[in-house]
Amino acid sequence: RGGPNNLPIAEVFIDDDDCEEKKRIKDKPRLVVLGGGWGGVALLKSLNPDDYHVTVISPTNYFLFTPMLPSATVGTLEFRSLVEPIRRVLSRVHGHFIRAKAEDVHFSDKLVEVSQLDSRGKEVRFYVPYDKLVIAVGSVTNPHGVKGLDNAFFLKDINDARKIRNQVIRNIEVACLPTTSDEERKRLLSFVVSGGGPTGVEFAAEMYDLLNEDLTRHFPRLLRNEISVHLIQSRSHILNTYDETVSKYAEDRFARDQVDVLTNSRVKEVCPDKIVFTQKQEDGSLVTKELPAGFVLWSTGVSPTALCKKLAHKLGNVQTNRHALETDTHLRLNGTPLGDVYAIGDCSTVQNNIADHIITFLRTLAWKHGKDPETLQLHFKDWRQVAHDVKKRFPQSVNHLKRLDKLFAEFDKDQSGTLDFGELRELLNQIDSKLTSLPATAQRAHQQGYYLAQKFNKLAHLSEGLSANDIRDGDLDAAAYKAFEYHHLGSLAYIGNSAVFDLGEGWNVAGGLWAVYAWRSVYFAQSVSFRTRCLLAMDWAKRGLFGRDLMS
Ligand code: FAD
Ligand code: MG
Ligand code: MG
Ligand code: MG
Ligand code: MG
Repeated sequence: RGGPNNLPIAEVFIDDDDCEEKKRIKDKPRLVVLGGGWGGVALLKSLNPDDYHVTVISPTNYFLFTPMLPSATVGTLEFRSLVEPIRRVLSRVHGHFIRAKAEDVHFSDKLVEVSQLDSRGKEVRFYVPYDKLVIAVGSVTNPHGVKGLDNAFFLKDINDARKIRNQVIRNIEVACLPTTSDEERKRLLSFVVSGGGPTGVEFAAEMYDLLNEDLTRHFPRLLRNEISVHLIQSRSHILNTYDETVSKYAEDRFARDQVDVLTNSRVKEVCPDKIVFTQKQEDGSLVTKELPAGFVLWSTGVSPTALCKKLAHKLGNVQTNRHALETDTHLRLNGTPLGDVYAIGDCSTVQNNIADHIITFLRTLAWKHGKDPETLQLHFKDWRQVAHDVKKRFPQSVNHLKRLDKLFAEFDKDQSGTLDFGELRELLNQIDSKLTSLPATAQRAHQQGYYLAQKFNKLAHLSEGLSANDIRDGDLDAAAYKAFEYHHLGSLAYIGNSAVFDLGEGWNVAGGLWAVYAWRSVYFAQSVSFRTRCLLAMDWAKRGLFGRDLMS
């Protein structure tokens, strides 16, 4: 027992002496990972097996392949094909798993406070000590303070997908009953998606495919014009973090497919049988509207988990971002002892360094021209080049950066047609204050997990011969390994039987669900196991042959 709350401390594990491998790592530095999602698993998959005593703490005992989750909701894929047991992933590093929720971290005692229900349903709490801690707990769906969300469905994990599938099928079956009135049938078959980001768009597209391809075949009673799919988006375009051409393509496609896209619309309340929203008119006025709904999906972006809010609060002033835990460029949680605690994935953000990046860029530019950067005069032409470079490095900020041209004019105070260093610095500060530095994607979480694994491998190697204390105290991180750098590999969305790619340099469309899966399996190949790939392949083959699985 010990720690601030005098709770039991889990110093030893029952399986520590199970086999030779486990005995070997028993006294290695204790690496504790909170969360078994994209970030956590990427870390585990690249970590050297013999260097750390690894423990994963997570309330879910599987890794979920989220990009395919929208497909599972409508029976295109099986749930079990999308998950990988954490214990399987852990066996490579001979790690331990604790199925529980992290409630708090006591940074000075190096203890994670953990809770779980015992067999009688009573909460038990205990501590898990660490030498290195990685926080990778992901995010929760943003409720935006909207009323009646208990009438809506979410799409975050496998249970959500299962609930959605059951509800969709129930609606369809009830709609088919001879006793159901025309009006009620229309309501039951009105599917509303709130949120025009990739998840909402993909779900709407999958829903549309299901209704068109399978239902008209299996349920001839259901007339096509009684089924409707609606997408409510608060911004003026869907997929607004993508390139403009991509969102335009998606909107045109939906228009043709009769997916009803309602832009500039804010949901006010979700009622059991309808959704209430306000829509901004062209003249700027707000009109309140209602839509009968048999099903509402709520997928409107992410917000921090309770744990992250608590930790940010605890660390005080050094944590200034309201959306995520801030780290330095080595992914170390700001405000904690160097080299103890890291944060990766959706729950974290790397402190903005766009300004630094641009300054470096300009220095290089100046040197190239043999000039002193401080006396540099930046012409509009050069600015376009800088803007282009920034867009490539920070693709998630395209929206803000669309205005870069305008900013140039605004900050050129003396209207000389050039920016001097002072004008430029002001402009950069303005950009920095507005940007969150990295997107909440699997792509990013994966890269960060992989980065940490490489770093930890290197550190373990360097520290052979040093004691655990030496490893903890020195700033080996920065000395031993480079800063994290994000590489945008493009985005993809599935819209009405075609994949829309946004690869930074332009955009592209390829036909068919197959294209999506092909692209994704290349893209995520290293993240999933051979088992998962086999299961997915079987699902696609099955769907091709027999259609979707419509049982619940
Ligand atoms: P997660 O993968 O969410 O993992 C968090 C883990 O932490 C989970 O295991 C959870 O159980 C655990 N946890 C939560 N709270 C605690 C706690 N208190 N203590 C301990 N453990 C805890 N991204 C893409 O790049 N491409 C896509 O196509 C794509 N499609 C998506 C589709 C859907 C439907 C969804 C929901 C997301 C999609 N994403 C996509 C986003 C991507 O899934 C996330 O960005 C990614 O999962 C973030 O990884 P993470 O490790 O930070 O968190
Ligand atoms: Mg994770
Ligand atoms: Mg996950
Ligand atoms: Mg995370
Ligand atoms: Mg000027």
